[in-house]
Amino acid sequence: MRLSVLLSAVVCLLVFSCTKKDEIKTTHLTNSRVAEIRLWLSEKASKIRTTEEKNRFADLNRHLQYEKLKTEELKNGEKMILVPVDTLYTSGLISQNNAALVLLLFETKSGAIKKGNLVHYQSPTVNHYSRIPVNSFQNLYRSLPMPDCSVKFYTLTERFLYDFTYQNGTLQQFDVLKSHKKAIPTEDGCIDWYLQTYENGILVSEVYVFSTCGSYVEDGSGGSQVYTGVGIQTITDQLTNPCLKSVLNQATASNMNNQVNVMLQTVFGSTEDANITIKEVTNLPADTDASHTASGTPGNTYFNSVINLNVNILPSTSQEYIAATIYHEIVHSYLTYNGTYGELTQHQAMAESYVDHMASSLMQLFPNMELYTATALAWQGLQGTTAWNNFAAAHPADAALYNSINTAHRAGSTGTDCN
Ligand SMILES: [Zn+2]
Repeated sequence: MRLSVLLSAVVCLLVFSCTKKDEIKTTHLTNSRVAEIRLWLSEKASKIRTTEEKNRFADLNRHLQYEKLKTEELKNGEKMILVPVDTLYTSGLISQNNAALVLLLFETKSGAIKKGNLVHYQSPTVNHYSRIPVNSFQNLYRSLPMPDCSVKFYTLTERFLYDFTYQNGTLQQFDVLKSHKKAIPTEDGCIDWYLQTYENGILVSEVYVFSTCGSYVEDGSGGSQVYTGVGIQTITDQLTNPCLKSVLNQATASNMNNQVNVMLQTVFGSTEDANITIKEVTNLPADTDASHTASGTPGNTYFNSVINLNVNILPSTSQEYIAATIYHEIVHSYLTYNGTYGELTQHQAMAESYVDHMASSLMQLFPNMELYTATALAWQGLQGTTAWNNFAAAHPADAALYNSINTAHRAGSTGTDCN
């Protein structure tokens, strides 16, 4: 929080660290599941509009390899089902040369299929379904590191929706077909479609592709993901230091209905396109307690925020100080998500509007904490702001007290020890 390094929301790379290794979940083929998929596909077929598309879709259905069906966990018990398309499917529009073509279905928690896409997966090492790394789609949806690859999503009738290009573990490019200006139809009822290209989360180009009259995406084909983003709502704790982990768990527990935790849970715990990761780092300067980075375009494609806690410093501070640091960084991430950029700009906003919220949040977390201690900790990191300068000019004794409280908590000489 003090001198916290806020990298601009639009120029940062995601910082990936360790990833959770999930076991491959291979589902034994059950006739009922295949029957269910076939039923769902036949319902979709009835909604396809042109004969050409109907014929192609019927051919695709003949080349689905149900015996190679796999599942991956999406979130909260929801599953993705992968059914490969064999290479004898040649009437399709999507080239299968040196790539894998997969029918990707999304199941609700109760096991009902809710949508599906055709997905084209290509990489230097993947030229076949059997070579797609375990949990690739789970990792994609969780914004976890991916090997070098290109993953393209299509409707069931092979209309392009969006694609991802990963290099060196990070998402280098994301293309998405979007209708312009909130899909307001032109006078003749048609919609213009544009291909937007994002590099490292920044929109770098938007090119008109075509117009459609009538819907572009058939019902149930998963096209709606284009509008709501591709991520899933995730708050990821990658901390390993037991003290930092314990404080984070308490500060963000579900019974903490304080303002800061509610901000965290509202944005990152329940928004499909916003994720946050909290991790520890060793490369921050000694006077910097934490930093926050972000990538993506809030409300547009996806948004990922990473909070880095300085593990060289924080474990020797008080638990109160650690919690204040975490809450401070959560407010940074929240402000970035809502389009307030720049460290000083965010600090001004925090100093003007969030000090009381942060203080009362700390007092919920530490019920015995005095108001002046909570207020002091909430001000930490905001001393360069206009609001602080005004406060310090008007109340020099209080300002000095707050600074001394923060110094003592940072030194670990007061407050709750972290071990
Ligand atoms: Zn800060």
